[in-house]
Amino acid sequence: MKLLVTFYDKGTNPIIAKAVMDTGVLINVERAVINSSEGEALVDVPDDACHIVGEALKRLGADVRIVENGVSRDLNRCVSCGACISICPKEVFSFDDDWMIVTDEKKCILCGRCVLACPHQALTISY
Ligand code: SF4
Ligand code: SF4
Repeated sequence: MKLLVTFYDKGTNPIIAKAVMDTGVLINVERAVINSSEGEALVDVPDDACHIVGEALKRLGADVRIVENGVSRDLNRCVSCGACISICPKEVFSFDDDWMIVTDEKKCILCGRCVLACPHQALTISY
């Protein structure tokens, strides 16, 4: 399960490493962005450890949200042009045997590249 972790110390406090030590759960960081005032990390944890990791991160001062959805595609807008395939770093998009686009949203790390690249505004991210 994916958790979106927001922290407010510019990354100076290694809260994810501390959460690993506190819980003994391995946390996979899929994406992280740190700016001048806060940071955000998308992490993947085992489903059965989601609660304990989330609580540990909160105790360390982070805001934590469960991410239920990856990118979503409007089938009425998508023309299966394939522009999203090459732009996606996680191979979420592929062609099926009929050259229609299919998606594996579980792989999505919510980077937003495909949303900008789609010429038909068929892709959105909501979490
Ligand atoms: S870039 Fe947009 S229109 Fe093209 S295949 Fe991907 S989702 Fe569909
Ligand atoms: S948001 Fe990023 S990871 Fe998710 S489908 Fe789009 S390009 Fe791929």
